[in-house]
Amino acid sequence: MAVTRKRIEKNLQAIRQNIVDACDRVGRNPEDISIIAVTKSVELDTIKNLLDAGITELGENRVQQLTQRAEEVEAYIQRRRNALPRPIQWHMIGHLQRNKVKPVLNTGAVIHTIDSLRLAEEISERAAKMNITADVMLQVNCSQEDQKYGVAVGAALHLADMIATMSNLQLVGLMTMGPLVADPEDARNSFVRLRELFAEMKKENIGGKAFKHLSMGMSNDYQIAVEEGATLLRIGSALFATD
Ligand SMILES: *Cc1c(COP(=O)(O)O)cnc(C)c1O
Repeated sequence: MAVTRKRIEKNLQAIRQNIVDACDRVGRNPEDISIIAVTKSVELDTIKNLLDAGITELGENRVQQLTQRAEEVEAYIQRRRNALPRPIQWHMIGHLQRNKVKPVLNTGAVIHTIDSLRLAEEISERAAKMNITADVMLQVNCSQEDQKYGVAVGAALHLADMIATMSNLQLVGLMTMGPLVADPEDARNSFVRLRELFAEMKKENIGGKAFKHLSMGMSNDYQIAVEEGATLLRIGSALFATD
């Protein structure tokens, strides 16, 4: 069953308050932080309710679902044009295979999950053919456990440097997944590592003004991520909780 707009608004309000509180603890401005609603586990009607509740950033982790939903949401927006004036931005937050780059670029999604030079080159080549510049992020395996995806911390700087100079890619930030831990406090080290890596890259003059995002923090650990500098929170279950 779809999660109601009312329920979503209530959850959203609680999340926003938590973000404000976390910002207060460290002297940040909540306006520098966006919520990406991760919709992989919900049905289309819930996504419509998200949009009606004011969400403008949506994330999916599978290509097929991303492309299908981008179409469905576009049709919904066309119908509700006057009620929903803001543009919707999609985010590809799951592992991306090189043979599936084209459909993702067709949705205009920001790709959070570059983790190899070959994938970056493929995206750049595809983008060149489409005559566009693709917004991308480098996924870093900061927890250094046996997580499958993300480039190793030690290889991140070099790869970011190469991505930033590819003609049809715009490097807009870094992304990491916190480790799966019972106590969200245990995710903090990963977020600190990503923030430090970002600062190091800035010092090396990697990326320009557009290189500004830290995509980190999910339902369990977003408050810690905010304290450590996150600008893009990828939140699913906390938005849809019906307690
Ligand atoms: C599912 C998912 C999220 C959101 O997870 P929740 O715990 O439901 O907030 C964030 N990032 C990625 C990459 C995901 O796959």
